[in-house]
Parts: sequence; C-alpha cells; structure tokens
Amino acid sequence: MQKELTCEQVGAIITFYIEGKLSDTLQKAVKHHLEICPECKAKFNELQSMLKRLHKNQSASNIDDEAQKNFKKKQYAEFRANLSAYVDNELDDKENMRIKKITISNPLARKDLEEMYAFKKLLHNSFDKTRSDIRYDFSKNVVHQMHSAPADFTSSFKKLIIAYIIMLSIIVAAALYLWVLYF
Ligand SMILES: [Zn+2]
Repeated sequence: MQKELTCEQVGAIITFYIEGKLSDTLQKAVKHHLEICPECKAKFNELQSMLKRLHKNQSASNIDDEAQKNFKKKQYAEFRANLSAYVDNELDDKENMRIKKITISNPLARKDLEEMYAFKKLLHNSFDKTRSDIRYDFSKNVVHQMHSAPADFTSSFKKLIIAYIIMLSIIVAAALYLWVLYF
C-alpha cells in the first residue's frame, strides 16, 4: 500500500510536478493528492497560471529582442561600412562618435573592431618583417658577392701562386747553394 503524500511534501515538489520532472510514482501520488485536497489544488492552479504568465512575458520579450536585433543589425551594417575608415581615422568627429557608440553597445561590433586592429597590426608587423628581411637579404647578398667576386678570387689565387713561387725559388736557391758548396 502506497503512503499518501502530505500537503507539505506536495508543496515542496509541486513545481517539479508541473514541469513533469518527477518519477511516475511520485507524479501519480501528487496527482492523487491534488484530486482530494482543495487547498493544494488552489496553490497548484495559482502556480500554474503564474508560470503561464511568465512564459507569455518571455515570448513578449522575445518580440522585443527581435526588434532590438533588427535595430542592431542596421547599426551593425553601418558600423561595418565605416569600420575601415574608423580604424584609419578617416571619419569626421560626428561619425567617429557614432561608430564609437555602436562599438560600446554592440559586442559583435566590438569584436570586429578588435579583429580589425589585430589585423592592421599583423599587416604592419609583416610589412616591417618583409622590409627587414629584404634588408637582411640585401646585406647577405652583398657579403656573398664580395666573397665570390671573380676579381677577388683571382687576386687571392694570384697571391697564393706568388707565395708558392717565392717558396720554390728559396728551396731551389738553397739547393743550388749547397750544390756549389759541396761539388
Ligand atoms: Zn494538500
């Protein structure tokens, strides 16, 4: 035999009952209690109509959201159209202020602006990097040309030959000297 629920117990779980979140057994037990207890039934009715009003308000605020969304969409389109000019500081004061306001009130616009700044920074950095790369390549090239210059190569080769000839002459001279001395 199943134990009957008390009014206190029903009060504690009534919202779960309305949302259908109770187990089958409990759901049935609450339903049974509401059938036999006018007090709890009244509370239940009140709660249910309150919840209905709440849902209605929610859908009403959804309509407001829709209007606001459309307004934001329009604002956002304006923001997008002026974003590049805004970042490059090409707008007049009034336009500048409008875009600033949109940026503050619209998170999407703010995100775009941050991305635009990051993009510009990246562009700037990569431009700087390219410039320094070119500079580096240029100096590397100059050094490379200096080392592999044909004129330079020939001159150091010449120096080597001259040194070799001088060394050879000394050896020959010494050999001749010794030959004259002993024979
Ligand atoms: Zn009751």
